[in-house]
Amino acid sequence: MYQFELEASEGAARAGTLTLPHGIVKTPCFMPVGTHGAVRGLHPDELERAGATIILGNTYHLHLRPGEDVVRSLGGLHRFTTWRRPILTDSGGFQVFSLAGLRRLDEEGVVFTSHIDGSTRLLTPERSMEIQAALGSDVTMAFDHLPPGQSSHEHAREAMERTLRWLERSRDRHAELVAETGVAQTLWPIVQGGVHDDLRRASLEGILARGDWTGIAVGGLSVGEPKPVMQRVLEGLEPHLPKDRPRYLMGVGFPDDLIAGIARGVDLFDCVAATRNGRHGSAWTADGKVQVRGSRLKLDDGPLDPDCDCETCTRFSRGYLRHLFVVEEQLGQRLVSIHNIRFLIRIAEQARERVISGGFTGWAAEWLARYHQ
Ligand SMILES: [Zn+2]
Repeated sequence: MYQFELEASEGAARAGTLTLPHGIVKTPCFMPVGTHGAVRGLHPDELERAGATIILGNTYHLHLRPGEDVVRSLGGLHRFTTWRRPILTDSGGFQVFSLAGLRRLDEEGVVFTSHIDGSTRLLTPERSMEIQAALGSDVTMAFDHLPPGQSSHEHAREAMERTLRWLERSRDRHAELVAETGVAQTLWPIVQGGVHDDLRRASLEGILARGDWTGIAVGGLSVGEPKPVMQRVLEGLEPHLPKDRPRYLMGVGFPDDLIAGIARGVDLFDCVAATRNGRHGSAWTADGKVQVRGSRLKLDDGPLDPDCDCETCTRFSRGYLRHLFVVEEQLGQRLVSIHNIRFLIRIAEQARERVISGGFTGWAAEWLARYHQ
């Protein structure tokens, strides 16, 4: 039920097929983020037509509202949302460390204040596994300690070592839940270690010593460090990652980050930027960013991105999209979100084709040069 077949590679870039209980994911792949059980503003059919094969759900948000017991009693996240394809859930750790009021962190777990109603809650590796099992995602993420971006070596080491200890607890509770409930779900560990190459290596070695995983995630990047630093960390890790397992770079998903990540051996990405930017009228195109509100677009009859095959670009003009934003019509936000999501999915699809047919490296260089020109 959990298989990864590496089909082709060029340098570090890879093309593969990931088989999960709810379907097949061709990699490299961009995963849209369905924070509250919906990718903001979009219908599941629109996501499917944009080519999404797997989406992400946020454990923290779904735990607060509607609560995992509600989701479970309504048939799990797939039945609840009617999304039929694979779902990956995060562990809740990122939101606890970034969004919630962090009250106490110790070996047991994290005490935090809900950003919804101010209630005090405890999240531990075991609780995270229980919530994700109730949600019924295909892939669950281990509960990790995420230190602030660019933490000192000492602080990053402490968080990395705790993450390894928490991984053992996540692994053990996850195995119990699979045995007890029969949930079809796999668990992926998260490489931490901040911007410190030696800690990243130690984190990966610790992970590989603690299990035979069906996939491995890299967390704690794109949290404020310069892009060359993220790329250096990926380059340092790549030769040591198992070739026959998918690699997921968490929370990274701007167009140029996708290309740079794929070139450094990453298979899966997620990021809220596609829909967040879409709601603000900021569209990615092959020639860089377009501000849809801009008065330049008022009489523009052409598509948002002439090279794009999405439902927005094949039907609506720039002038119409601008009008929708000027009058604050919700359709505008939805249409630009659809475009941005399709834009990222298509980058991954095109990269995959190039890796298989040969010529990824040249294509990636041309793509980046045009995007940044
Ligand atoms: Zn488009």
